[in-house]
Amino acid sequence: MDKDINYGSDYKFIPATSIGSGIYIQVLPDLFCHTVQIVNISLVGNPETNEFVLVDAGMPNSANEIIGAAENYFGVNSRPKAIILTHGHFDHVGAIVELIKHWEIPVYAHELELPFLTGQMSYPEPDPTVEGGMVAKMSPLFPNEPINIGKNVEKLPSDGSVPSMPGFRWIHTPGHTPGHISLFRDRDKALIAGDAFVTVKQDSLYKVLTQKQEINGPPRYFTTDWNASKESVMKLAALQPEVAVTGHGLPMSGELLSESLEKLVRDFDKIAIPDFGKYVDKNIH
Ligand SMILES: [Zn+2]
Ligand SMILES: [Zn+2]
Repeated sequence: MDKDINYGSDYKFIPATSIGSGIYIQVLPDLFCHTVQIVNISLVGNPETNEFVLVDAGMPNSANEIIGAAENYFGVNSRPKAIILTHGHFDHVGAIVELIKHWEIPVYAHELELPFLTGQMSYPEPDPTVEGGMVAKMSPLFPNEPINIGKNVEKLPSDGSVPSMPGFRWIHTPGHTPGHISLFRDRDKALIAGDAFVTVKQDSLYKVLTQKQEINGPPRYFTTDWNASKESVMKLAALQPEVAVTGHGLPMSGELLSESLEKLVRDFDKIAIPDFGKYVDKNIH
């Protein structure tokens, strides 16, 4: 294992949480969603066979909580086969250094996300001027410098398969970040969407706190390519998922999900794209 690994120098605990924090939801027999403050992690696997993977790695300082969640479902001292990252934003890799050291397992991400995970490239700074509420205003607090997990991270296989997640395939859903991916299982149309779309209005502090269920595009303060992000949402809607776990907000399923996704595709410019902000291309309005 490559042990010379670290967070960016702007890494810090963010004092924001929601009423859902610490709550586990069993979405499917082998899909568990756990909320860490304001972000979701997924544990995917059969509790009887003890084989599972972790999707995304939570907020800064949440390693003990994530290890506790894994042991709660899969038994004491159990460890996932791998960590799959939907993307590398601070709220999805917040505990990854401690988790790699504790579990000694590989991490997989899209090739285009690797520079942000190996200390080579910072994400664009979050935009506090974007149309939205308090969370956008507090976003300058959010770390955007790259972490460096060195050789512990590998690129996802190019055939679309997902290591240690049989039945799932990864789908490139850029826009929110260049190498953003979502995970889809054709058998039961289960979708792990990351931040390609979310089920809470992530820029409203009140709605983040209460987790009011409402479909939305990717979190605005961090999204830089709205055209790509719209195409990604269309790609996911075309799969007609029956259940979706998103990076933020409560899992959504059935008719509510299909109707919400349809609405998001139809009114993407109105619902998702902010009216103003530094990453908004005036031409798409
Ligand atoms: Zn994100
Ligand atoms: Zn996020």
